[in-house]
Amino acid sequence: MSTINDFSGYQPTWCPGCGNWAIGVAVKTALVQLGFDPSSVTAVFGIGCSGNANDFLNCYGFHALHGRAIPAAIGIKIANHKMPVLVLSGDGDSYGEGGNHFLHACRGNHDLTVIIHDNCVYGLTTGQAAPTAKKGYVSKSTPNGIIENPVNPLALALTQGATFVSQAFAGDTPQLIDIIKKAVRHKGFSLVNVLQPCISFNKINTYGYYKEHTYKLDNDYKRDDYRQALEKASELNEEKFPLGVIYEVDRPDFTGELPQLDGEVLTEKKRFTGFDLLIKEFI
Ligand code: SF4
Repeated sequence: MSTINDFSGYQPTWCPGCGNWAIGVAVKTALVQLGFDPSSVTAVFGIGCSGNANDFLNCYGFHALHGRAIPAAIGIKIANHKMPVLVLSGDGDSYGEGGNHFLHACRGNHDLTVIIHDNCVYGLTTGQAAPTAKKGYVSKSTPNGIIENPVNPLALALTQGATFVSQAFAGDTPQLIDIIKKAVRHKGFSLVNVLQPCISFNKINTYGYYKEHTYKLDNDYKRDDYRQALEKASELNEEKFPLGVIYEVDRPDFTGELPQLDGEVLTEKKRFTGFDLLIKEFI
């Protein structure tokens, strides 16, 4: 059985008190409790403070270009669809630069666990407003307040076809671990939107703010009720943040719909040698 130390890479460089620490611990703990070891799971990282976890998490890893963590993860999943693939990315990375990839991954129900470090800012570049920042949010890139309405991550995932949509708070590590484990077990696109205070550059969405504005879903909450899930997602407009699994249903995932991948994984299939002959013609 693996331990947290097995999954530990370099010592994180995150600011002391940053919500990323809790996410880092939660991911490692969830992987241990699920029975994985570093050679049985892949994590793909975006750019930003969250993406720096590429150095801090020891398992198969790929550090993608800005906004391109999800398509890289899709490629990895298609190459080896039996390997669990996680994406660790920020709200700027996956709802901003990579927003297009995010919505198409939801549509395809790609079997990925997408963990978003949602801190409303671009922390690594010192605090410019990111897509989930509230309208009017003042930052060095928006000195008069951001004009656009914020992206609603839960509603976006729900309306584009994600089959597992959840929200957690970096100030509640036990629940975060539990949700990550459920998300990894789910077959299909799983979103874990983690409310993650950036203590250095976001003085609005603090631990205190989220303690006041979050609440846990009731035990009898029905996860397969799409309309109810949309209602929960729309509570963002009232600055209310439900915590838990908002929505979960079964639907065939992308690789499950590909007859070519029925059986052995692509990486174990015999290589098509005709390709070598074709290549020879050009060298
Ligand atoms: Fe965390 Fe913000 Fe520091 Fe980045 S800049 S490590 S998000 S506190």
